[in-house]
Amino acid sequence: MATWSLGRALRGLWQQETLDESTWEDLEDALLMADAGVEYTEALLTEVRSEAERIGLTRPSDVKALLAERIEAHLAEYDPTLTLTERPAVVLIVGVNGVGKTTTIGKFAKYLRSAGRSVLIGAADTFRAAAVDQLSHWATRADAQIVTPEKDGQDPASVAYQAVARAMEQHIDVVLIDTAGRLQTKSDLMDELGKVRRVVEKLTPVSEVLLVLDATTGQNGLSQAELFLEHAGVTGLVLTKLDGSARGGFVLAVQQRTGLPVKLIGDGEGLDNLRGFSAKAFATALID
Ligand code: GDP
Repeated sequence: MATWSLGRALRGLWQQETLDESTWEDLEDALLMADAGVEYTEALLTEVRSEAERIGLTRPSDVKALLAERIEAHLAEYDPTLTLTERPAVVLIVGVNGVGKTTTIGKFAKYLRSAGRSVLIGAADTFRAAAVDQLSHWATRADAQIVTPEKDGQDPASVAYQAVARAMEQHIDVVLIDTAGRLQTKSDLMDELGKVRRVVEKLTPVSEVLLVLDATTGQNGLSQAELFLEHAGVTGLVLTKLDGSARGGFVLAVQQRTGLPVKLIGDGEGLDNLRGFSAKAFATALID
């Protein structure tokens, strides 16, 4: 069972004989503990409860299927498909430092390589020498190309430009561009991101802007990422560190709060620990 599943918390509940007020309270507690958020939890349980009463369910175990079905329907309101049809498809990876951006880029490169796509990484967070080194390492492991800064502190936009230009010359399918995430310098950060985007778009449109969020920080992490949500033109979310979290419910809250689809989920530090998001698989795993 995945660590983020509600299954463990709910097992006793499904085995109870009667469906009563305490069933709904226990369900509410479990969802809130899993970081599904007050707003989402209340809306979900109101919906499930009125349906359960309408069709006359009498046992908690009958509620389980209904709950999974409603959660899946809510998750499926957002389209997780990655738009990578341009060649090259340029993907900007944004987010606050520490959330798992670098690791996600490595895993994403491998994910795409496994699907037969060629990949080039642009290491455009030029003030983090360690991130550039790590990305080079990931690029080797994932069998992707990489463009790194010629010197520390080089203009991030020029690295991004070089990366996209090289990808165009070499007919690479996807360019993954790492970007800075230092929250100390908010307006500089957004200016820098804006410039990266403008410069890249002189060559080709940006296909996706993926915001990386750390599931272990849940709702709190989401407020930290507000700046990106407001200014970065985010097209989708990547949730990392689901393996280290009991907060699978965060996925439910995050789409509703941001209006954006979760497109990828990371559940480990290894090269293969990234998967595309599926509403059905996620809803089932969350409840079972
Ligand atoms: P960045 O600062 O956003 O680039 O973050 P990093 O990619 O360097 O990741 C920060 C830490 O989180 C590292 O120790 C990673 O190994 C770890 N990490 C990243 N993604 C995952 C994940 O999906 N699961 C787990 N358990 N750890 C992760």
